[in-house]
Amino acid sequence: MRIIENLEEMRETAGELAIGGQSSGLVPTMGALHDGHASLLRRSAAENDVNIISIFVNPAQFMPGEDYESYPRTWDADLEAAEAAGVDIVFHPSAEDMYPPRAQTSVVVHALTRGLCGMSRGQGHFRGVTTVVAKLFNLVRPTRAYFGQKDAQQAVVIQRMVIDLNFPVEIIVCPIVREADGLALSSRNRNLPPEHRQRALALREALTLGRKLVRGGETDVSALTYAMGQHILRDNDIELDYLEIVSPETLEAVDKLDDLALIAGAVKIGGVRLIDNILVGPTGPWED
Ligand code: AMP
Repeated sequence: MRIIENLEEMRETAGELAIGGQSSGLVPTMGALHDGHASLLRRSAAENDVNIISIFVNPAQFMPGEDYESYPRTWDADLEAAEAAGVDIVFHPSAEDMYPPRAQTSVVVHALTRGLCGMSRGQGHFRGVTTVVAKLFNLVRPTRAYFGQKDAQQAVVIQRMVIDLNFPVEIIVCPIVREADGLALSSRNRNLPPEHRQRALALREALTLGRKLVRGGETDVSALTYAMGQHILRDNDIELDYLEIVSPETLEAVDKLDDLALIAGAVKIGGVRLIDNILVGPTGPWED
């Protein structure tokens, strides 16, 4: 496994792969790797000649007052996890190289970033995400890039960016990997104090409650949102950031559940922000 920190070296390597006709898969991450990341990496390994992970805690996507400083960083364990998941190249640029002092260009996807996490974290969050992903695509030039459904809005936004800016890359969205009790794996789970670990399940429980109600024939979005919100808010130590039912394609609010919909939520527990989502429709899916 090769580690590349230098931008030029990454760009040259990408060029050599292209000349050699080798396909490459890129899994962009912020490190603190877990089995969710590993599932993306294994898929990338299976589908490409060369498997590349980027590990970069991207300062541009953290808003003022967010957890950039305290975001977990577990470099040695990440290298082991990457190796075990069949990674060939770890791309690990520095923030100084990625954002030199005179940089002033960014990529913005408009309407899709206004709601959900764009509303609660500020649109600057997604500007940071799309800008860094565009830069990674230019440096790595992957044949395919892998993203998790866990960050459902991010996946939709990246797919839009790739179409709008004609990036020659195929985007593959992979299912959410969960703990045995249903908690979505997240690097931020490491920052959850043990006494809050059980509480963190409330969002997942609310989402599965929503699915159960839909399965029972409920199609009224306000009734669903109310029931799910109540489930979360009965614990005073959980702050509900948002809980919304939207179209999985446009991310716009729906008022009736007559088609496939995305229920997406974000909560804060003990200062840690967690997100999760579920796809539901009048005829399923009932599992995920
Ligand atoms: P992050 O390091 O949190 O920026 O995540 C890197 C990639 O891994 C993103 O595409 C995430 O959506 C994906 N990811 C994070 N957690 C999970 C999970 N539990 N299951 C599947 N994919 C995930």
